[in-house]
Amino acid sequence: MNQTHDELRRGIVAVSRQLDDAGLMPNKSGNVSCRVPGGFLITPSGVPYRQLEPGDLVQLGSDGSAASGGLRPSSEWRMHAAIYAQRPEVSAIVHTHSPRATALSCAGLGIPPFHYMIALAGGAIRCMPYATFGTDELAANAVCGLDGRRAVLLANHGVVAVGASLREAHSVAFEVENLATQYLELRAAGLEPVVLSDEELAKVISKFGDYGRIDRT
Ligand SMILES: [Zn+2]
Repeated sequence: MNQTHDELRRGIVAVSRQLDDAGLMPNKSGNVSCRVPGGFLITPSGVPYRQLEPGDLVQLGSDGSAASGGLRPSSEWRMHAAIYAQRPEVSAIVHTHSPRATALSCAGLGIPPFHYMIALAGGAIRCMPYATFGTDELAANAVCGLDGRRAVLLANHGVVAVGASLREAHSVAFEVENLATQYLELRAAGLEPVVLSDEELAKVISKFGDYGRIDRT
């Protein structure tokens, strides 16, 4: 990671606003973070994204410890800390309550691999059991559901997307909502999706290669 803290702060604000503008963070829900040496930067609790400024972001140690003063970190900081601890390749996390993926989570449904773009998430997207927001239990569920994946649904709650950069986590979060929309359309039409084989999925994941060089065709 070669970006300075200032660049990362501006990046988090930009990504948060884009997600909010797209309707993926209704009513101040969700949160965005980025790994920095010794910890991570995370969006604060209770600040509308349109008013969010780079200086409002909260820097936490890897154990969640915060400098005194300043704004309170997002209530989901434990989940972000747990993911960074378990996934060294992850440098950014986006958590949304994006409407269609959240609707699926409220039915306890994950997203099967019916479209090749699910390879961005690393394969079928799991839906993990419900746990109260802000708890260690929710954090553990998220880490478990992200095993081998870049996205997970949290039952009756929302979505977590991760990436090696803010841009990647942001793209995965958008794609999860896109896939959820397609899946709901299929179900609403009474159609059964044709699921891609493990072999085909592996081929697509291999073709995608380094996520940063993905060619969206
Ligand atoms: Zn949430």
